[in-house]
Amino acid sequence: MHEMGIAQNILDIALNAANQEGATKISRINLVAGELRGLVPMQLTFCFSIVAKDSIASGAYLHVEEVPVSGHCNDCSADFTVEEYNYLCPKCGSTRIQITGGTELRIKDIEIE
Ligand SMILES: [Zn+2]
Repeated sequence: MHEMGIAQNILDIALNAANQEGATKISRINLVAGELRGLVPMQLTFCFSIVAKDSIASGAYLHVEEVPVSGHCNDCSADFTVEEYNYLCPKCGSTRIQITGGTELRIKDIEIE
């Protein structure tokens, strides 16, 4: 389950940021996760609750905002959302497309007390 390692990473980053702000508690973490990461939000929040148990992030709410896969067509320059892993330009049918979004994984912001 690679969610456990990711949950640990998120926790480390959040704790670091909270530390710099002199926070005593992390109440919420907003995460942006691209669809191509193949993350299962429920598993991730579950793993997070385990790794965060003995830290100031214990009980923090991890919100996972999923970002769809987006692409750009090299033939007609259309920008679009890739649905169901269908890597074709919806406008001209070209396969010469470039993935422009959906692989990101980052913390958008955290709420501390
Ligand atoms: Zn096209």
